[in-house]
Amino acid sequence: MSERVRVILRRGKSKPFWLGHPWVFSGAIDRVEGVVPETGAPCVVEDERQNVLGTGFYNPMGKIAVRLLQHRRTTDLPFDPQPFDRLVEQRVREAAVRRQALGLPHGRTDSYRVVNAEGDHLSGLVVDKLGDAAVVHLNSRAMYEARAVVADAVRRVLGPERIIMAVGDEASRLEAIPTGVHYVWPEERKEDGAVQVLENGVRYRVDVFGGQKTGFYFDQRDNRRRFAELCEGRRLLDLYSYVGGFSLNALVAGAEHATVVDSSGPAIAAASANAQLNGVPAERLSAHAEDAMVWLKEANARGLAWDRIVCDPPKLARGRGHIDEAIKKYARLNTLAMSVLAPGGLLLTCTCSQHVSEEAFLRMLTDAGHRLRRTVHVHAVWGQAPDHPFSVVAPEGRYLTAVLISTSEG
Ligand code: SAH
Repeated sequence: MSERVRVILRRGKSKPFWLGHPWVFSGAIDRVEGVVPETGAPCVVEDERQNVLGTGFYNPMGKIAVRLLQHRRTTDLPFDPQPFDRLVEQRVREAAVRRQALGLPHGRTDSYRVVNAEGDHLSGLVVDKLGDAAVVHLNSRAMYEARAVVADAVRRVLGPERIIMAVGDEASRLEAIPTGVHYVWPEERKEDGAVQVLENGVRYRVDVFGGQKTGFYFDQRDNRRRFAELCEGRRLLDLYSYVGGFSLNALVAGAEHATVVDSSGPAIAAASANAQLNGVPAERLSAHAEDAMVWLKEANARGLAWDRIVCDPPKLARGRGHIDEAIKKYARLNTLAMSVLAPGGLLLTCTCSQHVSEEAFLRMLTDAGHRLRRTVHVHAVWGQAPDHPFSVVAPEGRYLTAVLISTSEG
């Protein structure tokens, strides 16, 4: 450990790290000792009295200065710092065992999130299993620098036929690492991004290079299934549909018809192709590649209405500073969605902005209802699927809120 860089915290700043918090911001740091290249370095973190708090990776260019990976938690115990590669493999293995405990995979679901960053004590690392492929998102400088080690761990623990590793735009900006696909194994399948996903008994063909995030949004798995149970014999409007997850669950469960709306042309084309893949006749799905708000305004002007609506927009609050602006956008969107909800209908309205709390989101729904002179009845508040755990010390990881409502006049 002697050659590791030392990051020494300011007085009074160490409590969260004894509790296991993974992120040290630069404001908490008193000084850094040792030679740090621009690309960062493994480090040991100490409090002002030089008690070791844990080990991690120091990224001098990152918005988060240190991501702790191993926590000491108490000075009563000796601290045994583990080599990074051993730690990563052990944590990936533990994460996979947790999924088994949750019943994943099973006969109707072969694809899911295997590693969910802080929620699996692996800050900066996300691993999704999509059919026979493992799709790895390197969301920190530490994981980016260690991508060969990460690939080995994933290969040994999950035994996938393919590994795709990528850095998304947001991670690239926050961590000062290059965006794009960084590692594909095996080399001879470099061009091949097509995978087949089975979730809740529904099949999807997903392109891991052309898709979004890691190709599929598994966080809504249980909400898709629960909402589908409420859609039998009904007409569904699926706003921000991506490749049609909510609609296909509903159609397979007996919904009469689904209308999917998403601004992404490829996502809409995939939704139609996936309907066919699941034996859903073409006349039961209408697909529109358009901006959802523009489309909704027009539907409202034409007096259209649906019995069941899902509204699942992308993250509207990019940071803490954007919460008010985001709430206003959610209010405009939800007012429009409620205005095309048939009397007696159900709306599942979602937010995946971690900065928008459940409380703020519910208050926004009250305001949206008020604009239409309607009372809003909340039937359920659902969250992200259990393969997306969050850590109690880093509740930022609880980002998805899905609220099932109905409305009444007056
Ligand atoms: N409901 C989806 C996930 C939605 S993710 C599922 O179950 O898988 C958010 C989606 O919003 C993305 O597919 C993105 O293409 C789409 N999107 C982003 N901006 C949009 C806009 N202005 N209008 C319509 N769709 C938009």
